[in-house]
Amino acid sequence: MGSAVLREAISAIRDWSLTEGKESRGPHAAESFGSLVFDGAVQQKRLPTPVYHALRRTITQGEPLDPSVADAIAGAMKDWAVEHGATHYTHWFQPLTGITAEKHDSFLSPNGDGKAVLEFSGKELIKGEPDASSFPSGGMRSTFEARGYTAWDPTSPPWLLYSGGAVTLVIPTAFVSWTGETLDKKTPLLRSMEALSKQAVRVLKLFGSTAERVITTCGPEQEYFLIDQYFYLSRPDLINAGRTLFGAKPPKGQELEDQYFGAIADRAMAFMSAVETELYKVGVPVKTRHNEVAPSQYEIAPVFENANLATDHQMMTMETMRRTAPNYGLACLLHEKPFAGVNGSGKHLNWSIGDDEGHNLLSPGANTHDNLQFLVFCAAVLRAVNKWQGLLRASIASAGNDHRLGANEAPPAILSVFLGDMLTDIFDQIEKGGAKSTKHGGTLDTGVMVLPKLPRDAGDRNRTSPFAFTGNKFEFRGVSSNQSIAYPNIALNMAVTESLDYMATELEKAIKGGKKLETAVADLLPKVIKENKRIIFNGNNYSKEWEKEAGKRGLLNLKNTVDALPQLIAKDVVAIFEKYKVLNERELHARYEVMVETYNKTVNVEGQLMVLMANRYILPAALDYQKQVAQSVAAVKAAGAQSIEGKKTLDGLIKLIDEFKRRTDKLQKVLEHEGSGSAEKHAKHFRDAVIPAMSVLRDAGDALELIIPHELWPLATYREMLFIK
Ligand code: ADP
Ligand code: MG
Repeated sequence: MGSAVLREAISAIRDWSLTEGKESRGPHAAESFGSLVFDGAVQQKRLPTPVYHALRRTITQGEPLDPSVADAIAGAMKDWAVEHGATHYTHWFQPLTGITAEKHDSFLSPNGDGKAVLEFSGKELIKGEPDASSFPSGGMRSTFEARGYTAWDPTSPPWLLYSGGAVTLVIPTAFVSWTGETLDKKTPLLRSMEALSKQAVRVLKLFGSTAERVITTCGPEQEYFLIDQYFYLSRPDLINAGRTLFGAKPPKGQELEDQYFGAIADRAMAFMSAVETELYKVGVPVKTRHNEVAPSQYEIAPVFENANLATDHQMMTMETMRRTAPNYGLACLLHEKPFAGVNGSGKHLNWSIGDDEGHNLLSPGANTHDNLQFLVFCAAVLRAVNKWQGLLRASIASAGNDHRLGANEAPPAILSVFLGDMLTDIFDQIEKGGAKSTKHGGTLDTGVMVLPKLPRDAGDRNRTSPFAFTGNKFEFRGVSSNQSIAYPNIALNMAVTESLDYMATELEKAIKGGKKLETAVADLLPKVIKENKRIIFNGNNYSKEWEKEAGKRGLLNLKNTVDALPQLIAKDVVAIFEKYKVLNERELHARYEVMVETYNKTVNVEGQLMVLMANRYILPAALDYQKQVAQSVAAVKAAGAQSIEGKKTLDGLIKLIDEFKRRTDKLQKVLEHEGSGSAEKHAKHFRDAVIPAMSVLRDAGDALELIIPHELWPLATYREMLFIK
């Protein structure tokens, strides 16, 4: 059976390379970029001038949208969409699950005399009412108040989704309950960006800036696998869990390191090109593509954008990839660890903050004044990561990411900051010499004066760091391939908001007390550095020594989701979310509960799948083989000879199969023995009993794979999935 799938895959690949593989897609047309977006240019062309200006004020300055202009906007939007063939619209939102949600409504409205007209009102644009009862709410809504509504986010432009021959106007929205509680990831993200802006502007003002807003920017680098769809569809674990639950390591894995940045396979290239074409049209600025470290692993990265837009665009990117792959006979795997023993996938979150005058606040400047400001922001981030390690760690916690973090392929679960040698040295000098700064006429001493020579893009890259300064931005590397970037973004924004608030308060106090800005900074920085420098680590984060050293420094080492998640509802975390009005305690708890539940459900599904695959795929094949060997041994014996090796094989096989079955039954029992109790109790049971039972069952299954003949083995193997392209 295994080989039937293999044959189909091979012939499909050959057919493809003989036909489609020869076709050129032609150049990406610059005009096609954003052609399916109701963006600024379309708005300006199609809206009456006052309406257009009202909308722009909402988008750029966050002014509430005047409801009286909504009808005009909705009308123009509908006409534009219908001209492109749209029949439906949808309020697109990001519930507390990992994916996006949409419910489509037709523009069509019967007019009473047997005919119909196309309609779309301002009310329908601004507010939608999906049946919210089936979305996880972490207990925030009881069934009697199950309704929630979606509210248009005018800062993320609507776009057209072409899928299955249908065209749909997609309206990015926030998702809120009738009692006003947020049920999604977008609302807290937008609020956290606002909160950060306020505190950052306070700091900027001290430096004489006239900026009025600060914008969080991010650029997420998405890693993923592409495998042939035949293989994918033949594996229940890939279909239902997104990762392989069995699978022996192939003779050739990634040890030759011959994939990274290597030539991209034809079919993968066709897929990438198609994805890029689709994404360009809907305004997603994808830019970079390359092979990743593992076989059949790739990366796609956009040019950075405003974090809200970048988050929407990232969700669109993942969806487009999933949807496009089957057109090329491929399956796109976004799971953090589809294959054991092979590198998993992450999503580096490049993050920075910039003001509304176009300055990147994390970019070293050309003069001392700019660099003082840069150092204040940089130190604020350092303090943020140190003080809010737990929150940051929790924001990237999931059952899938547990396979990655700390497994010598991704940063460890310990948060630390890579600053690079030069910046670390400058911080060192400031810490030591800050007090003597008045020696140089009120400005900081040489530690800061050398700053203008700071190279813009620090050459030394440390791939093992979970949080690295890369010249003009920070890169949060623990983020998983599968998750929305909303939570890590919110966590970072909150941490930095609190930190900037602290810096601004201290500096304002000192200046009020008569100090010059330079002196105030010179007094504050050494203190901040001294208190937070334990978070700086430029060495190899994969090493055992670092784990020890981090322990000595008192850094958190939360190895799994169950350990990490409670950080989300730690008292001080709740306090800052409430202080900056991003989420209240109930809303934060709800997110925590959904994350614990998701962990439990994920491991439970995986456990059940393993039992199913063990009993219905692997065991029958193993018994078949056992019978073959037994018959062979018997036949030899009947012929009057003795097969010593045959008998040995049979004995070994019987033992292994019995053990395999015992472990299967054990896992099944452990899964059933879930019992009652809190979600946390379940989570601990999954972590401490179910996952270890899965792991030993896998060992036995993988041992069987290595002895059962290819013809009998019922599952696509790693060697096939990763190397036949
Ligand atoms: P690497 O793989 O070396 O980390 P990439 O070029 O693949 O680099 O990705 C870097 C990402 O960082 C890109 O998405 C880029 O747009 C983004 N980036 C650059 N500057 C900023 C910034 N100021 N804010 C946020 N992201 C940024
Ligand atoms: Mg990177």
